[in-house]
Amino acid sequence: MVPVPSSQSPAPAPMLVDAHGRTIRYLRISVTDRCDLRCRYCMAEAMTFLPRSALATLEEIALIAERFIARGVTKIRLSGGEPLVRRDVGELVTRLGLHVGAGLDELTMTTNGTRLREHAPALAAAGIRRVNVSLDSLDPDRFRFITRHGDVAQVLDGIAAAREAGLAVKINAVALKGLNEDELGDMLAWCVREGHDLALIETMPLGAIDEDRTDRFLPLTGVFDTLAARFPLVRDSHRTGGPARYWRVEGTATRLGLISPLTANFCDGCNRVRLTTEGKLYMCLGHDDQVDLKGVLRAEGIGALDAAIDLALAGKPKRHDFRIGAGEAPAVARHMSVTGG
Ligand code: SAM
Ligand code: SF4
Repeated sequence: MVPVPSSQSPAPAPMLVDAHGRTIRYLRISVTDRCDLRCRYCMAEAMTFLPRSALATLEEIALIAERFIARGVTKIRLSGGEPLVRRDVGELVTRLGLHVGAGLDELTMTTNGTRLREHAPALAAAGIRRVNVSLDSLDPDRFRFITRHGDVAQVLDGIAAAREAGLAVKINAVALKGLNEDELGDMLAWCVREGHDLALIETMPLGAIDEDRTDRFLPLTGVFDTLAARFPLVRDSHRTGGPARYWRVEGTATRLGLISPLTANFCDGCNRVRLTTEGKLYMCLGHDDQVDLKGVLRAEGIGALDAAIDLALAGKPKRHDFRIGAGEAPAVARHMSVTGG
């Protein structure tokens, strides 16, 4: 993939503001819907993935992302599926890394960590400064059960490699009733010892899985009360424009984020949109409205992207309508891995 010098990039265009007055600064990109794990709350064991012919090329993803940067997006997160299973993803990271400090404030990645040992040095060299690593349990047997076949030692080694490469690490853990609820305090203590941040996430009704998510749904309100009884938590003003609220473990470098879209809605401050691995732009994780930017790029060229992005943005919903209840169908049929978590 050949980097595009900024002098050849399309001219800057107006900032991205949606119909509810929210300025879009954050683009999440799912670079693949495939994954080497099968976390129970995320995927079914037998998943049907998109045919390779449906995927946007890395060049197309880069061109679309660069249009967003030109229009005021300052933060890009690469996700999936597992971003590090896409062959040549390093080329995309290198290309987008050229914009860090020149339009982009931050390029980050969410990964399951299984391939970080191999990739962390290249991610750091490309300009990534921190990664989110998903880790729902430190216990090898539980981790294997939740991911269906993952090896926690491999992920811990990946996290160590990330730190050796100079990357800051935030641990993402989905709070799961009966699976890791008794371990979340110990995980926070581990994060404090290791100098990681921790984000706890409520399970969201996205895509069909092999079980009823209601059985595993754990409201973070109760989790927070339990953690606050054990740790000195002070409110932190950090905001990402996402659904997370933050606390700091007093006297430590560790920040605790609660991503609780079910029990506390923060859509009012939403500043993000999502590009799928098929090159479709979704304005909300929890809605089906999308605009096919890859199709526009292929049919009409890069000059048509701005109008398509504006059209998409005009329809950005005010909020998601997630509900979790026994027997309730998922809010949308798309798995998080398609839209990019
Ligand atoms: N494979 C990478 C990983 O696991 O970090 C990136 C993609 S994954 C979809 C991104 C994040 O979404 C992970 O932290 C994962 O735990 C979370 N996630 C996946 N499905 C979810 C769901 N239904 N509800 C809440 N979080 C989910
Ligand atoms: Fe894969 Fe991430 Fe989904 Fe787990 S949460 S199955 S690691 S995409």
